Amino acid sequence: MSRATKIVATIGPASSSPEILERMLRAGVDVVRLNFSHGKAQDHIDRAALVRETAARCGREVAIMADLQGPKIRVGRFENGKVQLQAGQRFTLDATCELGNEECVGLDYKDLPRDVRPGDRLLLNDGLIVLVVDAVQGTRILTSVVVGGELSNNKGINKQGGGLTAPALTAKDMDDIRTAMAFQADYVAVSFPKSATDMEMARQLTNVAGEAYGHRPGLIAKIERAEAIPHLDEILLASDGIMVARGDLAVEVGNAAVPALQKRMIRRARELDRLVITATQMMESMISNAVPTRAEVSDVANAVLDGSDAVMLSAESAAGRYPVETVEAMASICVEAESFEELKLEADFIGQTFTRIDQSIAMAALFTAHHLGCHAIAALTESGSTALWMSRHRVRMPIIALSPRQASVRRMALYRNVRALHMVFSSERDEALRQAEQRLCEIGALSHGDSYAITCGEPIGAPGGTNMLKVMRVGG
Ligand code: PGA
Ligand code: MN
Repeated sequence: MSRATKIVATIGPASSSPEILERMLRAGVDVVRLNFSHGKAQDHIDRAALVRETAARCGREVAIMADLQGPKIRVGRFENGKVQLQAGQRFTLDATCELGNEECVGLDYKDLPRDVRPGDRLLLNDGLIVLVVDAVQGTRILTSVVVGGELSNNKGINKQGGGLTAPALTAKDMDDIRTAMAFQADYVAVSFPKSATDMEMARQLTNVAGEAYGHRPGLIAKIERAEAIPHLDEILLASDGIMVARGDLAVEVGNAAVPALQKRMIRRARELDRLVITATQMMESMISNAVPTRAEVSDVANAVLDGSDAVMLSAESAAGRYPVETVEAMASICVEAESFEELKLEADFIGQTFTRIDQSIAMAALFTAHHLGCHAIAALTESGSTALWMSRHRVRMPIIALSPRQASVRRMALYRNVRALHMVFSSERDEALRQAEQRLCEIGALSHGDSYAITCGEPIGAPGGTNMLKVMRVGG
């Protein structure tokens, strides 16, 4: 069973024991997400170490994604932990309120009163509670409850339509970046970016913090603010990939707008050679049930057919009752959906021109392997860019990337249809190609008589140097 779409799983209390984590990795988790909205730095450091150990034991290349909390705005705590809000009642949000009750609650973002006007709608607890702003008086936001319900400690607040000015990287995020670089997180996900500038700032911070470890992570922009949508292209270009962060996004733009935005974001990411993860509530009911709903199955399958590099689990794997079963179910949905994918490689290239030698060779390899019906495409790659370019297009055969750089290998764990293997090859070209073929046979990707296309760069070992394509058959 070979699967092209990757699985990102958030780990948390339900999945931090070595046994469960091992079963999850064996069931197919490719990227582990550490959610910095919860837990202390030490928890993440311990979990990262456990992931590396477990992956090594399973013989799997697994990437770690550190997901920063960002400026998520939350209400404070309540005297009794929670309150019941009734439609029609008045309710005040007040940054100076210490402990909340039926009439008011505190806020962790002191500038919220500056960002709202009478008539604005505020959505609490993922949109389950709706408040409309009546007036702003100093630190106090006076509201009326439109949709009531239970509101408990530290629930999130979004403003419908967007427009909150909090910067994307908080002081806590900067600390968390240092923590994540110390364990060499392969990806850092930035929450609530509004523009390329937010991502450029994150890039600088990660590069500076990573320098001591000689490490540069991939950057994922979580698209979850209304303002990010008109800036999608510039955000993509400033990032290595995006996450379709449907939880917060749906609250800001309205649920109904999300499916079309998901398709547009995935298409654009691939056109710009960037990665894309579809996230949130994909298998939500499996938090408490051993099987998914039909609608969840369709949601995952559609994210695969849209062309996501990866589908993501949040609470399902972090805090649910069935973390292993959820990964198993998700993996089999991906495989089924992939068998219905339409191939339109020729159409992908209409109007496209390539000016880089390495990218042109990568595309030539893809085209050649596709037309000849090869069994695999292999790439000897330092940085992984050859594999990234190839993986932006759908083909029937797997792309196998062989790299001597462990960091590149782990980063490629997120690339759709790429299987990355760590391998140190000879600096002599024919010997390196022979070693590669042997390895592909060892892992079962090729057997006697199979044809494959392979790319490499001469001289071997220089990044960005792919300049050769060869079509071969195993055993001559
Ligand atoms: P979160 O991001 O889980 O960190 O909130 C994903 C989303 O908003 O969908
Ligand atoms: Mn979010």
